[in-house]
Amino acid sequence: MDTTLLRSGVIVDGLGGPAFPGHVLLRGDRIDAVLREGDTTPEAARHVDATGCVIAPGFIDMHSHADWQLPLDDHPELLSSMLEQGVTTVVGGNCGISPAPLRRETLGRLHDFASIARDRPFEYAWESFAEYLEQMGKGKPALNLAELVGHSTLRYAGSDAARGPMPREDLSNCLDRLRQSVEEGACGLSFGLGYDPGMYSPVEELQAFCQVAAEADATATVHLKAYSRISPCYPVTTPEAHNVRALREMLEVARQTGVRLQLSHFIFVGRRSWPSVEACLELVDGARRNGLDIMIDAFPYTCGNTTIHAPFPYWFLAALPGAYRSRLARMRLRVELELGFRLAGFIYSDFQVMDAGVEGWEELNGLTIAEIARKWKTSPFDAMLTLAERSKGATTMLFHSYSGEPQNQHALETVLGHEACLFETDVIVKSGGHPNPAALGTFPRILGPLVRDRRLFDLETAVHRMTGASAGRFGISDRGVLASGKAADVVVFDAAQICDTPPEGKQPAGRSRGIEHVFINGAHAVKAGVYQSGVRAGHVIRT
Ligand SMILES: [Zn+2]
Repeated sequence: MDTTLLRSGVIVDGLGGPAFPGHVLLRGDRIDAVLREGDTTPEAARHVDATGCVIAPGFIDMHSHADWQLPLDDHPELLSSMLEQGVTTVVGGNCGISPAPLRRETLGRLHDFASIARDRPFEYAWESFAEYLEQMGKGKPALNLAELVGHSTLRYAGSDAARGPMPREDLSNCLDRLRQSVEEGACGLSFGLGYDPGMYSPVEELQAFCQVAAEADATATVHLKAYSRISPCYPVTTPEAHNVRALREMLEVARQTGVRLQLSHFIFVGRRSWPSVEACLELVDGARRNGLDIMIDAFPYTCGNTTIHAPFPYWFLAALPGAYRSRLARMRLRVELELGFRLAGFIYSDFQVMDAGVEGWEELNGLTIAEIARKWKTSPFDAMLTLAERSKGATTMLFHSYSGEPQNQHALETVLGHEACLFETDVIVKSGGHPNPAALGTFPRILGPLVRDRRLFDLETAVHRMTGASAGRFGISDRGVLASGKAADVVVFDAAQICDTPPEGKQPAGRSRGIEHVFINGAHAVKAGVYQSGVRAGHVIRT
């Protein structure tokens, strides 16, 4: 009898209702029963004492890039901090890039784009979305994977047009592949409109993709064109703040197509965008009041990961690598960049190296561009360019001043506290370097410092948004809730102890505390706080 009884805990079932004392019985890979205190406790082969702890559904990281780590055979070690913080399911394929579907002739373009998200290259042993999901299942993933199909990936597969408007037949080819991917199990469509090629896609193209998603009842997640007051995606002369403009444009696409929209990483990048948080949430609320199905998601830190190339204008990137050595190009870039930083509200000490990506330069990991400039006795601009040139743009960075800073988290807390906000990590996980704190502490930080200590919202609401509400967003019907017959993804945590270990000075983020047990499809992946790396019990979720 393959049964485990989680005994005498406080049950928070993921539906948002009040917690109650009780027990949960797991049988094989399913939840057999959720019992109230006082009900007769059934026999079980194994017992886990949950006294003093909360029993909740496994957390869903609803905006993940772990699909770029899962094909690696050592991914259970790379992604251990996900299970250690209670995550059992990741929604991959975000920001326009999924590893499928693909076409061999244009695979190079997808592969280049994906360098931002992956730790190292792997073999693409698939072409269609169905083949990809089948391969992922065979690889015994450590986490459950639900996968979106990316707009950029579809463009690479369906068209030879590098960017900008596509010929009509290419567009219909892309849309056919979108329909097929959704039929084959993709849980939705994702856009990465802040990156090439998405940033050059005309609004008619976005509408056409969203129309197909709406007809297929698939959610569209969107990395908007801009998150800061000024961005490389619109002309400097645009009168409206770029982040507000980008949001309005996408809400209009949702209005015209009726697509269910998930606004990804609802962040305010650079100090001068912070005051627009209320106006942006009001736009979202207005659209919701008008009947549109729109939600947002966010991570609980004031930094996010990207590449060193992210702030560079397109004309400079298009002229690489020669532009690094051109005095004229460097002069123009310096003026534009430093003006842009001033208008957006960035300073060079906001840019921290995660992984320098240059052999022998590991000592730079964790330092800010301002610190590297002091170390090299050069200007921050020259330091940034030297690093970008030597790494060929592969340096991964943590950008700070996202929705606040440690001493001012008003914008961040306003977003996280919004009723339509779900939770995500959005992390790029690397085997080396200075980690994004969200990779280690997202869910414990919300449950501890923000819910228990700051009382931003109650525990039941927090768990609901981490589980049932996120599952519902993507039509994942058998997870995210503690109920008889659902998949046995369960987290047992100590609500009094749970917290992240945020970075301090040069010390990177550490392991979170308070997650006692994690079950994934009934397998015991975190046992008394210890990660069991041999457990590879994840399922591929086809919706
Ligand atoms: Zn993104």
